[in-house]
Amino acid sequence: MNDCLFCKIIKGEIPSTKIYENEFVYAFADIAPQAPFHAVIVPKEHIKSADEITTDNSHYIAKIFEAVAEISKQENLENGYRVVNNCGEDGGQTVGHIHFHLLARRNLAWPPG
Ligand code: AMP
Ligand code: ZN
Repeated sequence: MNDCLFCKIIKGEIPSTKIYENEFVYAFADIAPQAPFHAVIVPKEHIKSADEITTDNSHYIAKIFEAVAEISKQENLENGYRVVNNCGEDGGQTVGHIHFHLLARRNLAWPPG
C-alpha cells in the first residue's frame, strides 16, 4: 500500500495539480490528458479497483460522484462530460488505486475503443 502512486499523491509526497478536495476524495489533473479537461478522482482510502468495492467501502463511490457534480459546477462543464473507471488488465487500469477519469471540453466518441 505504501508503494501506491495515488496514495502518495493524496499525501502530497508526489506533486499534483489539485482540482478539488474534501474529506473523502481528492481530484487532480491527469498527467497525460485525454481531453482538454481531464481530472482523476480518487477516494482517500486505498481501494484497489472496482472489484474490491464492498458494502463497507461503497460510500466512497457515492462521494466520488458527489465530487463529480461539484467539479462540474466549479469548472463550468455545462456542456457535458464522461466519467470512466478502468478496472483490471483488460479494462486498461494501470494504477492499482481505484480512480475515476472525468473527461470534458471535447466531443467524446461513443462507443469507446
Ligand atoms: P488508468 O490507466 O485508468 O489506470 O489511469 C491512470 C491515469 O493516471 C492515467 O490517465 C495517467 O495519465 C494518470 N497518471 C499517472 N501518473 C500520474 C501522475 N503522477 N499525476 C497525474 N496523473 C497521473
Ligand atoms: Zn493507494
